[in-house]
Amino acid sequence: MADIFSETKKSVQAIAKKFNLDKDEVREFLEPNRIVEVNIPVKLETGQREIFKGFRSQHNNKLGPYKGGIRFHQNVTREEVMALSLWMSLKCAVADLPYGGAKGGIIVNPKILTEKELENLSRGYVRAIYDIIGADKDVPAPDVNTNPKIMEWMVDEYIKIARKRKSNLPENILHATFTGKPDKKHEPSEKREPKSFGLAGRTEATGFGGVVILKELINKLGLKPENQTVAVQGFGNVGNYFAQFAAKSGFKVVAVSDSKGAITEKNHKFKPLDISLVLKCKAEKGIVAGCYCIGGVCDLAKGKPISNEDLLELPVDILVPAALENVINKQNMKKIKAKIIIEMANGPVSYEAYEYLTKKGVIIIPDILANAGGVTGSYIEWKQNIEDKKYKKEETLKMIEGIMELAFDNIWNESVSLGTHLKEASYVHALKKLL
Ligand code: NAD
Repeated sequence: MADIFSETKKSVQAIAKKFNLDKDEVREFLEPNRIVEVNIPVKLETGQREIFKGFRSQHNNKLGPYKGGIRFHQNVTREEVMALSLWMSLKCAVADLPYGGAKGGIIVNPKILTEKELENLSRGYVRAIYDIIGADKDVPAPDVNTNPKIMEWMVDEYIKIARKRKSNLPENILHATFTGKPDKKHEPSEKREPKSFGLAGRTEATGFGGVVILKELINKLGLKPENQTVAVQGFGNVGNYFAQFAAKSGFKVVAVSDSKGAITEKNHKFKPLDISLVLKCKAEKGIVAGCYCIGGVCDLAKGKPISNEDLLELPVDILVPAALENVINKQNMKKIKAKIIIEMANGPVSYEAYEYLTKKGVIIIPDILANAGGVTGSYIEWKQNIEDKKYKKEETLKMIEGIMELAFDNIWNESVSLGTHLKEASYVHALKKLL
């Protein structure tokens, strides 16, 4: 079976061929500039020593420093990291950010490590890749199973090494080497505020950016948010903020789900869910399935729990897969009733389903455009550190809004001028900048 990197290259090459892009230039572009493989020794709390394997793929830096997350997962492979770094090059070009693409990963199941072991692993990875990262070289961020806490350890280790090596770069520039850092709140009792290098609004950025794109699309189609029903699969970081901002913008969010199942309220007609109450209910009960909150009371009996598969097939106007890849595929594509799909997760619609649904007239916003709000938030955090400023959440969201609106317009116009769907348009648009 072909690996994910070969598959990704093949699909980009097919699109490039269709639109007459230079074959040799595309072939050269597809290979990462550099892929580093490292061994990270970690002393476990049992006293045993273990060596973990990690990677950093620096795909392309034509448009600016390499940019991309670091994932901790037992299924990480060299090929997966390379494919993800290629997607980052395309995504940053689509959003018109001054960044190239990169990705990192460590083969590890982080759930079986203690906090101290996880910290040692994170610091060890930074020691191993120190020479190839930096605010103007390569800027890592969180990805699957990594978070602001891990970024805090990583940036701390990076600064320690920099100081040991007598770097005279100021603290703000050194902090700009990583994004997704914690946005620390300060205790009112603290006399002097410690400086926080994280970004207010970074957590909301991806979901918020997706809603900006949705509003642009609805506007282009001459539709009104209040007439549109929305179902969101996944109620994690991306899905829950998407649901909140969509509801705030007037859309009727009528169904949401997490890994345990979905919730909707449907008798004869869909009724919008009260998203803030669903959030509260999820916080209390741990799952959304079966939660139904009205008038401030969460009532497990009144909701209509449905399966995750059922959620995807609901007769809603807009479907938002925001959890996993490949959930809309050959098996269920004929049962999808939504007229618009926003790919908030990475790769939630398979290649075959994308072609089938697009031919049927469904408009699908591709992941590299739909979820680019996340890397845009990272860009603002990096910019804030470089400029030694501190942006307010409202300023951050305003900047994301501007960047995402422009990206949508560019891709929409590209699709009109090429006479093709938005996925091909976004790949061609990115490749034209990158070749
Ligand atoms: P998360 O872990 O915070 O949330 C994932 C959610 O999906 C959880 O609510 C989980 O319960 C749910 N889920 C898991 N299995 C499910 C299933 N079978 N059916 C329905 N729901 C299920 O992750 P996230 O950060 O929200 O990321 C979601 C997706 O968005 C991923 O594909 C990620 O790569 C992509 N993405 C995230 C960001 C970001 O900034 N967080 C940026 C770009 C892309």
